[in-house]
Amino acid sequence: MVRIDAKSGLGTRAIHAGNAPDPRTGAVAVPVYQTSTYAQDGLGKHKGYEYARSQNPTREALEENLASLESGVHGFAFASGLAATTMLLHLLKAGDHVVASNNMYGGTFRLFDQVFAHLGMRFTYVDTADLAAVEAAIEPATKLLYVETPTNPLLTISDLAGIAAIAQRHGLLTACDNTFATPMLQRPIEFGIDIVLHSTTMYLNGHSDMVGGALVVKRDDLGTRLRFLQNAVGAVPGPWDCWLALRGIKTLPLRMERHEKNAGDLAVWLAAQATGPRGPRVIYPGLPDHPGHALARKQMAGFGGIISLEFPDLETGKRFCEALTLFTLGESLGGVESLVTHPASMTHASVPRAQREATGFTDGLVRLSVGCEDISDLRADLVRGLAASSGVVVAAR
Ligand code: PLP
Repeated sequence: MVRIDAKSGLGTRAIHAGNAPDPRTGAVAVPVYQTSTYAQDGLGKHKGYEYARSQNPTREALEENLASLESGVHGFAFASGLAATTMLLHLLKAGDHVVASNNMYGGTFRLFDQVFAHLGMRFTYVDTADLAAVEAAIEPATKLLYVETPTNPLLTISDLAGIAAIAQRHGLLTACDNTFATPMLQRPIEFGIDIVLHSTTMYLNGHSDMVGGALVVKRDDLGTRLRFLQNAVGAVPGPWDCWLALRGIKTLPLRMERHEKNAGDLAVWLAAQATGPRGPRVIYPGLPDHPGHALARKQMAGFGGIISLEFPDLETGKRFCEALTLFTLGESLGGVESLVTHPASMTHASVPRAQREATGFTDGLVRLSVGCEDISDLRADLVRGLAASSGVVVAAR
């Protein structure tokens, strides 16, 4: 009998938490419970499973696994990352106010700005790396401080313990989108954050073959409310997608090591190559000139697999993206295969230009999700991109 506990290492928990052998057959892989309902023995007599929106054993396995990795007490899986964000906001009501990062995934901004604002919630967007700005934005109606760290796509780092301390002083709820870091590199609940959010579509699944989301909470009362909302709203994932995420997570520690090593080495190399007026500025929290470098060192176990490159204009960035042949041009991130994205026209198209540019997010910004391929091949591809974009011929050493 495999036994693990809270003291087991993260690598052990990634493989075993929630993944106990099937009690009926001993199957080592959690079965895909592909059922919509469950036979009941009599009125009000059942085995804890009534209907698959309410309970599904494959989903429960994933939820237990995520709660363990994020040092939380309950996990909840949803149909997408944005479905998870929707559930988080359903903890609030019309009239409530939220202070949120001014740089975050464009779909999250769209959900706040074009869905929940229409239902009567209000949002103030600030640079959450600036704790004084966060505190100054708090109003009597504020209920939630919402941060993404590192942010998508500028990789801004916010001080999680500092955010949690502000929230405690003002009696507010805190949530952190931990999609970019994953629990391998950062566990917000350990810094006092109440709720962790994930797009499991990204690193957790890691194979670009499903869409999903999750919330993990640090308190029972939040768990009780979210369990109610998960069933009442019904934005649940199917069992196959839960199973794919659960399988993906078993190799998350290994994949994150590789993402991190490839991205770290490429960022240093790019920063050394990409000089001259047409070369890109390299944004990566692992580089000592990144404004959040010292904080990232303190609160993260690594700097992650995303590098952003700021080209001088759209045309140069476009030439770079279109010249790459190993980095696939597409939306998403965190898979084993490297991707290149142009956030202004793709993932963040719904963020108004003025708002983007106020945070330093220009049309020339290109985001690389560095995958797990051989670094020599990735470097050779970037050489191709740099040559096409800036005319700079560099050596792929
Ligand atoms: N959070 C972050 C940081 C993201 O990058 C994304 C999607 O790109 C989401 C949330 C939303 O996730 P999903 O696409 O699974 O709805």
